[in-house]
Amino acid sequence: MKSRNEFYCRECNHELVSEHRMYECPECGGKDVFNSSFITCGCGERIYLSSHTNECYRCGKLYNIFGEELAPVEEWDEDDYYDCFGPQNEEVGKWF
Ligand SMILES: [Zn+2]
Ligand SMILES: [Zn+2]
Repeated sequence: MKSRNEFYCRECNHELVSEHRMYECPECGGKDVFNSSFITCGCGERIYLSSHTNECYRCGKLYNIFGEELAPVEEWDEDDYYDCFGPQNEEVGKWF
């Protein structure tokens, strides 16, 4: 599934959904903006791709940072589990 981008301007509160990240607000020209990519889960929930592993709060499906569906955690081997949940990936959610 192709991910999309949710744009938010903190200067004028303008919000929109676009294909790509935008670094300037089309409404007020402000640069204090926030982009977050997301996909729409099969269940209709919007999943924000803010970390290496993103879980749907409604149905529990897992997606990686590219919006690709992952196998349920129970099917992972230990190395995969560590790659996704290990301490090196603490950094979640970036503000631009
Ligand atoms: Zn704006
Ligand atoms: Zn879901």
